[in-house]
Amino acid sequence: MSARITGRTRLAGIIGWPVEQSLSPIMHNAAYRAVEFDCVYLPLPVADETDLIRVVGAIRVLPFVGFNVTMPYKQVMLDLCDEVAMLAQMAGAVNTVHCVDGRLIGYNTDGRGLVDALRAELGFEPGGATVALVGSGGAAGAALVSLVLGTAAQVTIVNRTLENAEALAERIRPHARETTIEVVALDEGAEEVVRSADLVVNATPLGMHPGDDPPVPAGWMRSSQIVADMIYRPEPTPLVAAARSAGATAVDGLGMLVAQGATAMEIWCGESCGVASRHVMRRAAEEAISVRAGGECA
Ligand code: NAP
Repeated sequence: MSARITGRTRLAGIIGWPVEQSLSPIMHNAAYRAVEFDCVYLPLPVADETDLIRVVGAIRVLPFVGFNVTMPYKQVMLDLCDEVAMLAQMAGAVNTVHCVDGRLIGYNTDGRGLVDALRAELGFEPGGATVALVGSGGAAGAALVSLVLGTAAQVTIVNRTLENAEALAERIRPHARETTIEVVALDEGAEEVVRSADLVVNATPLGMHPGDDPPVPAGWMRSSQIVADMIYRPEPTPLVAAARSAGATAVDGLGMLVAQGATAMEIWCGESCGVASRHVMRRAAEEAISVRAGGECA
C-alpha cells in the first residue's frame, strides 16, 4: 500500500488550513506509486501566516520537489515565491510551487484544470463562448485567465461583492484582446447574464455546507447550457442538481481537481508523468469519496 521510503525519497505536499479533507495526498501518492516517482506527498496543515513563512523557509532547505497551496494561502503565496509564472501573476494566486535548487517557482494550475476537465469530460472548448463566472477569488481569477487564453468571447464575473469583481476585471482586461470582461452583482442583474451564458462556472464555496442553496437558482439555467461547479462535495452538488433539473449539462469539480493535480505532476516530474497520472488520480479520488460517503470520514 505505502510507497517504499528511502534516504533518496523526495517530498511534496499540500499547505492549507484545514487540509484534513483534502483528496490531494490520496491522489498524488497513488500516482507516484503508479509511475514509480520516488516521492511522498504529505498534508501540511499551517494555522496562520506566521507559521506559513516558517514552513516555506523549511521547505527551501528540505528535499521538496514542490508543493500545492490551498485556501487560505493561495494569494499570499505569490509574495513568498522567488519567481511567479505569468499565468499565476495574472490569476493573482499560486496553487503549485516547484522547488528548484532552493528557489520557489509559483504556478497556477486551477484555470488549466477547469478548461482541461471541460474539454475531456464534455468536449467543450471556450473559444467564442459567453461565460457567467460566479466568484472573483483566486479560483475565479485562474479560470478567467484560462478562459481569456482560450479566446472566450465574453466573460461576466458575477460576484457578491461588486468591487472585488471589478478589481479582478481591471487586472485582466489589459491582457484580453478577444474577450470582453464585464461584472455584475450576484443579487442584481445576474439572472439574465446566467440565463444567456453558454457556460456557467461556480468559483465560490456555495453548496459545500449542509443546507446551502446553489449559487444560482435552477430557474436561471436552461437546457443546452454547460454548468461547471468547482466544488465536488456533496455529490451531486446543489448547483449540479439544480442545473440538471433545468435540463443543462453539469459537471462538478472533481475533474478539475484531478486535472490541476496532474498538471502539478507534469511540472514536478515531466509531461509523461502528468499524462500517466491522470486516470490513477481520478480513480483514487473517486474511491476516497465513496469510502467517505459510506461513513468512514465526515
Ligand atoms: P476565495 O479566493 O476565498 O474566493 C471565494 C469567492 O466566493 C469570492 O468571490 C467570494 O465573494 C465568494 N463567496 C464566498 N462566500 C460566499 C457567499 N456566502 N455568498 C456569495 N459569494 C460567496 O476562494 P477560491 O480559492 O477562489 O475558491 C473558491 C471555491 O472553488 C472553493 O470552494 C474551492 O474549494 C473551489 N476550488 C476547487 C478547485 C478544484 O480543483 N475543483 C480548485 C480551486 C478552488 P466575495 O468577493 O464577495 O467575498
